[in-house]
Amino acid sequence: MRENVSLKPFNTFGLEAGAKYFEEINNEDEVLNLLHQERFGAMPLLILGGGSNVLFTQDFDGLVLLNRLKGIKILNETDSEILLEVASGEVWHDFVLHAVKNGWSGIENLSLIPGTVGAAPMQNIGAYGVEVKNVIEQVRYLVLDTLQIETLNAAACEFGYRESVFKHDLKGKVFILSVQFRLSKGAFIPQISYGAIQETLAEKQITNPSIQEVSEAVIAIRQSKLPDPEAQFNELKKKFETLPSYPTTPGFVKIPAGWLIEHAGWKGKRVGETGSHAKQALVLVNYGNAEGYEVKALAFEIIADIQAKFGIRLSPEVNIF
Ligand SMILES: Cc1cc2nc3c(=O)[nH]c(=O)nc-3n(C[C@H](O)[C@H](O)[C@H](O)COP(=O)(O)OP(=O)(O)OC[C@H]3O[C@@H](n4cnc5c(N)ncnc54)[C@H](O)[C@@H]3O)c2cc1C
Repeated sequence: MRENVSLKPFNTFGLEAGAKYFEEINNEDEVLNLLHQERFGAMPLLILGGGSNVLFTQDFDGLVLLNRLKGIKILNETDSEILLEVASGEVWHDFVLHAVKNGWSGIENLSLIPGTVGAAPMQNIGAYGVEVKNVIEQVRYLVLDTLQIETLNAAACEFGYRESVFKHDLKGKVFILSVQFRLSKGAFIPQISYGAIQETLAEKQITNPSIQEVSEAVIAIRQSKLPDPEAQFNELKKKFETLPSYPTTPGFVKIPAGWLIEHAGWKGKRVGETGSHAKQALVLVNYGNAEGYEVKALAFEIIADIQAKFGIRLSPEVNIF
């Protein structure tokens, strides 16, 4: 059990907040064993999936359970359908890709929605004319009060637009452990009434799309609308193979600004009385008689150049008065 843990890497806003107690959950027994302990039984509890729908404004004075329950099980399969039980800590988009790869349809329109499988029924995630309720068979969860495992079929989940019983009567009362999905096999009926999907497919001259092509169209639309640092990083890495990076908040990477400035050719470059340091490109120097405005002008020239070359906007660390 870890204590006083920063939740910054576990929420996509990257906001700083502390958790009094913190545990990563990798199997169901761990949750049960933990919550059977008297000291945790009565403590405020926060279950965290991908952290893409939480906004921390203060520390959490209780126990945070980071859901990493994994596994996709086939329960039943016919020529036209497949019934799957998916552990709640699976990354939603990974599950979508798994389904697409296997030719199972029904969730391809929900490609690239951030978060975990367990959070999907909470607000009945939806996008591009499809809601997850269409394919959910049942939801299995641990009741936090009684520590009993129960299931709810789709009708009892009271799904509505971004709504479910998990946001109302069961709010804060359950840990969703797994979700059963019924996906389609065989003849694929694409759900492409949504204008943007039609336009994207038309641009590619696709008239009879496969599951994969619908998924790719949705991914392309989402990436064009939302900033996607991970995709941008992968593109940069293709162009600049030696680009260094460090892991940070899930979905983000840290790229050293010094490397970018150096590889844009600024390291050691002098402009009048100012310039970039010969050994540390990040540092701007005054050769003796520089005026503040000259240093500022150079900084902004470098920023513009990096933006043009790498598509990354640097911000000056120094407070400019
Ligand atoms: C860039 C962006 C795009 C998005 N696009 C869409 C979209 O197109 N459509 C859409 O519907 N949503 C969208 N969302 C919202 C988000 O993707 C969903 O709400 C997603 O289901 C959150 O999953 P998560 O695992 O990150 O949940 P978290 O942020 O970790 O948790 C959200 C809430 O659910 C609870 N919770 C999480 N897992 C469990 C569990 N196993 N058991 C019980 N409670 C749990 C948490 O306690 C918390 O209250 C988007 C979010 C972002 C940031």
